[in-house]
Amino acid sequence: MISRLAPPFSTRRLVLQVARQAVREPRRLGHRVNRQNLAAWRHHRRTVARCNLCGHQGPLHYELPDLATFRHHHIEPLRETLRCRGCGAKMRDRVLAAALLEALAERGVHAETIDELADRLPEGLRILDTDAHSRIARRLRHHPGVVRSLFLPGRDNGEMLDDERMLNVDLERMPFPDRSFDIVITSEVMEHVRYADVAHREIARCLTDSGSYLFTVPYDPALEHTWRLIDPVTDLPLVLPMHIHGDPMIRGEGIKSYRVFGRDLVDDLAAAGLRARFAPVHRPELGIFDGDLFVATRVPSSAAAGSSATTAEVGHG
Ligand SMILES: [Zn+2]
Repeated sequence: MISRLAPPFSTRRLVLQVARQAVREPRRLGHRVNRQNLAAWRHHRRTVARCNLCGHQGPLHYELPDLATFRHHHIEPLRETLRCRGCGAKMRDRVLAAALLEALAERGVHAETIDELADRLPEGLRILDTDAHSRIARRLRHHPGVVRSLFLPGRDNGEMLDDERMLNVDLERMPFPDRSFDIVITSEVMEHVRYADVAHREIARCLTDSGSYLFTVPYDPALEHTWRLIDPVTDLPLVLPMHIHGDPMIRGEGIKSYRVFGRDLVDDLAAAGLRARFAPVHRPELGIFDGDLFVATRVPSSAAAGSSATTAEVGHG
């Protein structure tokens, strides 16, 4: 009934959501309904873009994000909204789709959208998306080389969770042989991993020599060092209130964040065997406006030991 009167990603649905929140959390209403958000809403309902997941062309849906919460989490709000009215992809989904399509184009596989790609992915290509429920993972899940993962601590590491290669994966102990994947994607995952350095070494190990690691994290270039929010050893918060991010698996509860990454992330990745660069994407025609993205490759084994020369390659522009 609601879907007919107020379809997903419509203005009516947005009004309904805001009204519901006004009843539940009246004090937070001003975080969403304010001058800055309303100006952005008016601007983006006239912004026409083509979605690189589903191919839909039309105005984007700006959901009046809770600006105070995003500021608190050091996350640029645009990337978590600006939804495609065709498939619901947010700007962050399109950033990763653009990165994936580009990485594949370099390997001679050309597609304009993820839907197109789904029919063209070559047999031998292996992709791991660590967000099993991401829009990209869901659309590519029929391909035999695509593995989707999530982490349920109560289940066995490596356990198959459905019959389309959805696996339970502890990123600190990845249940895959060396060089298993051509592409690994993590999107807003590494801030939730207790020991990110261990997980980064595991990702480097599981990448092929020419493999690509595409990822997004809460990243603030104004921070010289990664800001630790929780002590990983004791698991006790170092910062209050804790940073709790929404998670579709834990409805209403969210998932705690261990850190906001700072500029030393690139050095930390180099120490883990990954040569990374901050490579924000600006493709207005796709509805992508300076979307945060990191791209990394595996440091060739001969150069892996103690290399910190990669720092010079970072651009924060
Ligand atoms: Zn779409």
